Amino acid sequence: MSAMRHLLDLCKRRGFLFQSAEIHGGLRGAYDYGPLGVELKRNVSQEWWNSMVYQRSDVVGIDTAIITPPAVLKTSGHVDQFTDEMVDSRLSKERFRPDKAPALKLVDQDKVLPISAPDKVTAKVWEQDIRTQFAKGALITRKGKEILLQVERMEKDKIVLKRDNTSTTSEPTDLHIPYHGYVDPNSNSPFLTTSTRQLVDKTLHPSLTYLRPETAQGVFINYATVQRSHPHLKIPFGIAQIGKSFRNEIRLEHAIFRTPEFEQMELEFFVAPWQAEEQFESWRKFRMDWWKYYGRNHDRIRERPHAQDELAHYSSGCVDVEYLFPWGWGEVEGIANRGDFDLSKHSEATGIKLQYTDAILMQERQVREKATGVKETSVEVLAKERFTPHVVESSCGLNRAMLALMLDAMEVVDEQGKAIPFPGEGDNNNDANDTSIVSKGVRTIMKLHPRLAPVKVGIMPLISNNKDLVELCTGISQSLRQELQVNVSLETQSTTIGKRYYRMDEIGTPWCVTVDFESLQDRMVTIRERDTGEQRRVSAEEVVEIVRDGLRLHPRGSSSTSNQQ
Ligand code: ATP
Repeated sequence: MSAMRHLLDLCKRRGFLFQSAEIHGGLRGAYDYGPLGVELKRNVSQEWWNSMVYQRSDVVGIDTAIITPPAVLKTSGHVDQFTDEMVDSRLSKERFRPDKAPALKLVDQDKVLPISAPDKVTAKVWEQDIRTQFAKGALITRKGKEILLQVERMEKDKIVLKRDNTSTTSEPTDLHIPYHGYVDPNSNSPFLTTSTRQLVDKTLHPSLTYLRPETAQGVFINYATVQRSHPHLKIPFGIAQIGKSFRNEIRLEHAIFRTPEFEQMELEFFVAPWQAEEQFESWRKFRMDWWKYYGRNHDRIRERPHAQDELAHYSSGCVDVEYLFPWGWGEVEGIANRGDFDLSKHSEATGIKLQYTDAILMQERQVREKATGVKETSVEVLAKERFTPHVVESSCGLNRAMLALMLDAMEVVDEQGKAIPFPGEGDNNNDANDTSIVSKGVRTIMKLHPRLAPVKVGIMPLISNNKDLVELCTGISQSLRQELQVNVSLETQSTTIGKRYYRMDEIGTPWCVTVDFESLQDRMVTIRERDTGEQRRVSAEEVVEIVRDGLRLHPRGSSSTSNQQ
């Protein structure tokens, strides 16, 4: 069985992840998060928020509407990406891309517009179509497979054709043919349908709204309001957002790796143009440190810088953070140096100035100019200078991150606790490999970072139906809940303690506490650690302190910053 199959089975069996609407046959690409899944997802997003917002003084949060007016997504360029720009030739019915099509060709001192049909028979049919539908009353002749239209003049967006004064048509004629700078590449015909993009623009009704494809646009359109409401925020500063996004994904892949509905954790960090490069490098490092802090297998996480031809035209740098999934490397996060594209576009579209200046920043610029030997800008010029902030973005998929962190934490061990690799691990095709590694004595441990674990402590009475033991367990769980606000689970099933430990290991619970008959006399309990299996006797009161200490966020760079084992 592949690592992915093993994980999905575990997720379903233990209540992390369910196929949505399963009792109605299921909906492909839609997943519901069960009691453990919702905890893990909340913990991942909480850890992200903690590191991006609470642990810094230069980032604030926001939560913007999911439904988005077309103007926003038209400005960001998304609407144009939703539909491929295509045009049909009304004569040949062929479809082509207008951005690749040639301009109109005229002959005979720009007085004749020749249209080439593939053969004489087709030319006759086309001539008839032009006469009766597309340019009634125009002066037309035909020479073999060429139809020749006489041109009166060219106007900005029009070709004005000459009238045939001998025409007997009684219908009203319109000899103004719309022209947008391209014709049918095969025939030189200007008789075209409206482009798909123009059609979309036409149907964009004020009441039409989109589900957002990313959370970032909500941040850009609020940049000025956030800055005004928080005057202490001086550039460089960032705005973070976590929320749902929606995409028309043609290919749905690997459960929650790619779904039409997903959650993003995004940071837009606004910087002065001369700070962009340095900030981009610093965010790259910051985000990689985050991944390494919560991941165990550092050889399964890497950065992949985008090649020049992969970059968006406005972007000067982009790296993907990739995780080595069972099917190969896959993107979990993108970090990009986006230039001033976003704010400039929204400013152009709305007429609202989104520019910035402040004295300290300008002084900093002068110091830099001095240090790098660049010609110094004078104080007078700097005092007047304003700039459109550049953006460094970190964009991470919450569901994908959760999938990567679960796969990273999952370990299958034999009876002696020795890790067993999955067959074909690292091989691209191993989703199809169903050789089972599950056999007697083999079990799974989810070695999640304690702060990510959905259940922090499993508390179990030695005998599940003993009232006194259960009462002491309830007391310990109450103090953990009240003092640490963490999720604890009272494990009162009538199975052996060993089996209950293993059930807790399988869902990643870092600590188990067992209450036995001696505990009733001396209030001493057994606390067991998930990863080492080590057990020790501690007082019931000490449990809270041990868990509190284990959940402490160690400062980055200290020896305990990493979950690597
Ligand atoms: P991909 O190349 O995998 O389609 P992308 O480059 O389109 O991803 P971005 O637009 O950069 O992705 O979005 C940022 C992050 O959002 C990605 O790194 C990923 O973690 C997540 N993400 C994007 N699309 C999806 C999706 N359909 N389902 C789940 N997560 C997604």
